[in-house]
Amino acid sequence: MGWRTEDGRHEGHLAPMFGDGQRGRRVTGGSVPHDDVVVGDEVQRADGSWTWPTRPAGEVTGWVVCCDCYSNTPFGPASSWIGPVFTRVPSKTLENLAARRVFAADDEVAYACEREDVQDAAVGLWRSEHAFGIDALTEVGAAAAAAAQAKLRLDAAVALARHSGASWADIGRAAGMARQSAQERWRGGDGAPAGGGA
Ligand SMILES: [Zn+2]
Repeated sequence: MGWRTEDGRHEGHLAPMFGDGQRGRRVTGGSVPHDDVVVGDEVQRADGSWTWPTRPAGEVTGWVVCCDCYSNTPFGPASSWIGPVFTRVPSKTLENLAARRVFAADDEVAYACEREDVQDAAVGLWRSEHAFGIDALTEVGAAAAAAAQAKLRLDAAVALARHSGASWADIGRAAGMARQSAQERWRGGDGAPAGGGA
């Protein structure tokens, strides 16, 4: 299973990786031996039966955090992101998820991606090194909208104060700025913001 961002535009997952860089598919069970890893699309044999191309799990050197990044269009992945690698170690005692070291016997290689503790570590890396940037941009958008709202509120408050007879010195003091700065910023329309500026 993969992990999706809330907007559905990023789907991360772990993939077995071979020493030469080839990545395995998340296909297990059925006709695929437990100690093999699927590396391509299903193909039809001469006798009409179907089979998956595989490589021996013994050649897998690790697992890589990947992401299919979709654009706004519905036409498939727009790009792929390749993230950090979990290195395969030869014994359980050498395993250390924080250091990205995972142990898996040959018949467990294809399933290591689904291990809950491995998934947790991988999701954390996917978020922090790739998708977190997207979440942060959402936060920038929300903060910018709040700042625009605050500016409108301030402009309205200044206009009201002017209509109520407050001086530019009073308004400047209340707004935490010099009289002249307040006057230059809002004098345009008797309290409305002066033209130009932003
Ligand atoms: Zn992505």
